[in-house]
Amino acid sequence: MKIGILFAMKEELDALLSKIELKNSYEIFDLKFYECELNNINCTLVECGIGKVNAARSTQILIDNMKVDYIINVGVAGGISKDLDVCDIVIGEKLVQHDFDLTGFNHEKGYIPNVGKYIDADEYLVKIAMDNSEGLNIHKGIIASGDIFVTEEKMSDKINTKFNALCVEMEGASIAQVCYLSHIPFLVIRSISDSPKKGNNKMTYDEFVIKSSDIVSKYVLKILMSLNN
Ligand code: SAH
Repeated sequence: MKIGILFAMKEELDALLSKIELKNSYEIFDLKFYECELNNINCTLVECGIGKVNAARSTQILIDNMKVDYIINVGVAGGISKDLDVCDIVIGEKLVQHDFDLTGFNHEKGYIPNVGKYIDADEYLVKIAMDNSEGLNIHKGIIASGDIFVTEEKMSDKINTKFNALCVEMEGASIAQVCYLSHIPFLVIRSISDSPKKGNNKMTYDEFVIKSSDIVSKYVLKILMSLNN
């Protein structure tokens, strides 16, 4: 079995790299790919860069070049539900692009023609993630993505109510879209690094990005070790 694992940032990638034994690494278009073997699964890790286009591009490379069977996106996110605290974990059951706007054509905000509004993560991967969540503050629900670092409470509240989303980040839903269009099952897992809702999000982000990345990378290792293959 082959799994592609995407991280937007170096901090997120390094948290997992520091816990595994590397087998190989190589570059494609200046993107660095890292290979390792875990639980008889061939894993390819990549730091895709921030934002939806970067994430989409690397996802397609993993699908086309590496022929992965599954895609997992791991990283940090801003908590926009009042129930979330920093370092909590969110399993994305559904992903939506909060900045996709065809409302001028009477479509709902977030609706993408030929794709839909919400994209479902793979049920099996969500179940394995839930089954391995003991000891963590885990939440399962909707993750909203867009090319905006959300700092304002007003925007955070709007995304929370409009999309019923638990957290906001900048990659997950574009990875979901590419996987949906290419028929590849996927999972998005995020640890909360900041809380736009509670103010001071840049400060909390800077303080918690490393800690959250560490927590979520340990969790992903646990998930990988319990996959049936
Ligand atoms: N440190 C970077 C910027 C980070 S952007 C720099 O200096 O250039 C934030 C990253 O963390 C994105 O990859 C996004 O997915 C996630 N993220 C965390 N909190 C977020 C928030 N409040 N809004 C949007 N994305 C957030």
